[in-house]
Amino acid sequence: MLICQIENHDESQILGCCIKQDCKHPRPYCQYCITSLHSDHFQQLKSFKQLNELMLQKMKSYDYLMNIIQQIKTSINTIYEIVNPLYVHPLENVQQLSCSYLNEQIIKLMKIEVAEATAGLIVNIKELNDRIQNICCKFQNLKSIPIKQTNFSDQLYQNKQQGSYFSIESQLEKQNQEMSQNLTILFSSDYKPIQIELENNCKKAINLCIGWKVAVCEPKIPKNNCPITFQFKIINASACDIGVCHRNKIISANYSLDLAKGSAQGIYCINQQGYVYSNLNQNINNKKQSFSFKNNDIISVEVNYQKQRILWTNQISKDQYSMQFDITEDLYPCVGIGYGEIITILNA
Ligand SMILES: [Zn+2]
Ligand SMILES: [Zn+2]
Repeated sequence: MLICQIENHDESQILGCCIKQDCKHPRPYCQYCITSLHSDHFQQLKSFKQLNELMLQKMKSYDYLMNIIQQIKTSINTIYEIVNPLYVHPLENVQQLSCSYLNEQIIKLMKIEVAEATAGLIVNIKELNDRIQNICCKFQNLKSIPIKQTNFSDQLYQNKQQGSYFSIESQLEKQNQEMSQNLTILFSSDYKPIQIELENNCKKAINLCIGWKVAVCEPKIPKNNCPITFQFKIINASACDIGVCHRNKIISANYSLDLAKGSAQGIYCINQQGYVYSNLNQNINNKKQSFSFKNNDIISVEVNYQKQRILWTNQISKDQYSMQFDITEDLYPCVGIGYGEIITILNA
């Protein structure tokens, strides 16, 4: 017989388990637990018979899910095995190659051409990837819920009631905060003003001319369910700006905005001196609302599409600032730098 381990519960028989999603008490309950720990949700206390039914139900979903996951795995493997061998080494020393080797390489190229020409193939697989990444985020959130909620051998049980139990509340809180995903970014060499020079494989931007310019990064920030994070390190700057932008608007403004006049068309950024600029809310433009930062500080930017919120964090001082954004157009990470200023990207 299973008996209740909680002090003062007279070693009563365990009658079943509580299945309230966020119950912070031990799941198994005795007659005393019903009134002392689970009284406000006693409908969610299940007898062993009910638990067996529940288990059968959930295992159906489990089988269904695992079956689909297995199928996806098999399909992806099949595609991988077909595409992977199509790699062609750059042709050097052509004289030393055999005709049959050349023949094989050309056939590979032709196969890639067929893939390109097959309607929707590449677009579809790209879309599939976006969707799978999105789903992956949700499963990652699931993973952060602890399976082992209570440590049964601990003395925790002897402590009475509230607050003393190993709580999953904090874990749920963590889950609500959501795991953010790091986005690997680079400064764009295709979309940049000539005044900005890129070094270190496009991870370092330097403004070589007089005048404030925007350096746009790639890729665009994916509209995932989980927040997306990227970060910059201030190498040498005194009035730089960090944030995100609508690329087209920045290009049409020739990578230069008159922020001091409060014009923040297409940009969401915070300035090193604490001034903020928003494409969405022009009322806050050029107002000192954020934290200031200095050389060697690391500024992370978290873009949360679900909450439509951008969060800046100074990783050194832990200062934070956030603002809302509009989701109508794609966003790209960006920095604004003046003459001589240098910023680098820190990819995780
Ligand atoms: Zn009990
Ligand atoms: Zn409960």
